[in-house]
Amino acid sequence: MDLEFSPEDLAFRDEVRTFIAEHYPKDLRGKQDEGDELGKEDFLSWHKVLHKQGWVAPSWPVEYGGTGWSPTQKFIFSEETARADCIRLLPFGLSMVGPVIYTFGTPEQKAHFLPRILSGEDWWCQGYSEPGSGSDLASLRTKAERDGDDYIVNGQKTWTTMAQHADWGFFLVRTNPDVKQQEGISFLLIDMKTPGIEVRPIITLGGEHEVNEVFLDNVRVPQSQRIYEEDKGWTCAKFLLAHERVGIAGVASSKRGIEKIKEIATTEMDGEKSLLANPFFRRKVSELEMDLTALEYTELRSLAANKAPGAESSLLKIKGSEIQQRLTELALEAAGHYGAPYFRGFGEGDNEHPIGPDWAHRTAPHYFNMRKTTIYGGSNEIQRGIIAKMVLGL
Ligand SMILES: Cc1cc2nc3c(=O)[nH]c(=O)nc-3n(C[C@H](O)[C@H](O)[C@H](O)COP(=O)(O)OP(=O)(O)OC[C@H]3O[C@@H](n4cnc5c(N)ncnc54)[C@H](O)[C@@H]3O)c2cc1C
Repeated sequence: MDLEFSPEDLAFRDEVRTFIAEHYPKDLRGKQDEGDELGKEDFLSWHKVLHKQGWVAPSWPVEYGGTGWSPTQKFIFSEETARADCIRLLPFGLSMVGPVIYTFGTPEQKAHFLPRILSGEDWWCQGYSEPGSGSDLASLRTKAERDGDDYIVNGQKTWTTMAQHADWGFFLVRTNPDVKQQEGISFLLIDMKTPGIEVRPIITLGGEHEVNEVFLDNVRVPQSQRIYEEDKGWTCAKFLLAHERVGIAGVASSKRGIEKIKEIATTEMDGEKSLLANPFFRRKVSELEMDLTALEYTELRSLAANKAPGAESSLLKIKGSEIQQRLTELALEAAGHYGAPYFRGFGEGDNEHPIGPDWAHRTAPHYFNMRKTTIYGGSNEIQRGIIAKMVLGL
């Protein structure tokens, strides 16, 4: 395996770099620099710029709107966007339901939904987890019963990220309670404006409204919105989760995160010297950097294999999420007491100017927020179980 970039790859890197410098939305950059919370329009603004350029879905097959890039080009693209602090596009449409639709959908479903995912016209959310069915997802109880050409859906989902903005959701529902759990589940696409859907916020430890509960009360869903065969939704669910876990590794953004920590620790003082000169702090940064380099090479090997992600993606998820958490721990350590007054973030109407350096006031909410990474996408304990069984054959 050759890990050097070719002259063509380097030219591609320059092209991406120039594009970002010229087209990344200035408003968005300003909000990020200020540490403001980002809304739907912010996420969509970068999405739309990339869509116009034809770069919004590098992993999709070309026939559905992908870029046709080599694995190295995809790697370069994610490196460059992270390096330039571009926001990460939301995965629910592009990385989750999109691949499910182009793999398992009917020609009509592909023709309708895929272009709208690419353009950002539809914002998606993921309705998998339920109270009592997270790790043990196959035990889910939200049921869909046939009524003519429709299903009537009743139940509750939880932890549904960004559902407050969603136009559509992809839901796992029970269509047959009388068979083995995994064999009675179907995969439905549901318009979030359908009568009977209620979205209630869950406010997280960092004070943010990112996740929700979704209640479904006699929600009527046409059968034409089911993906793949009835009762075979588990096949789509597993396929999607493997895709979800690869993105979760977040190697490129963690590399940028380490750079930022180093920048901060070079200017922040620890007594007479910079924080980076403190051997204890420097050692933690170096350990993190080594672990990230190891993860980066593992991801590159997985990309070079150029096959659909499998159980190996569990490994990327575990290491990637642990590194993301350690980064926030280091940032909070660097902020020290300046992080403390802002544990709950800023609420609407707050007009106090934060004390301490600008970068410090988001460190505590970010630290709390990132505790999620070892839970979502299938908890890390569950991923270890998958590796033991599927990769190591234990
Ligand atoms: C911020 C956030 C966003 C999320 N977004 C979404 C979303 O958009 N859509 C969605 O559908 N879901 C979402 N989730 C839900 C997420 O997928 C679940 O939280 C996760 O699968 C764990 O399920 P649980 O919360 O029910 O915990 P449980 O399954 O109850 O697990 C509790 C603890 O027990 C451990 N455990 C459970 N079973 C085992 C086992 N067999 N072996 C070893 N340890 C075990 C777990 O690792 C965990 O530590 C989100 C979660 C979070 C925190």
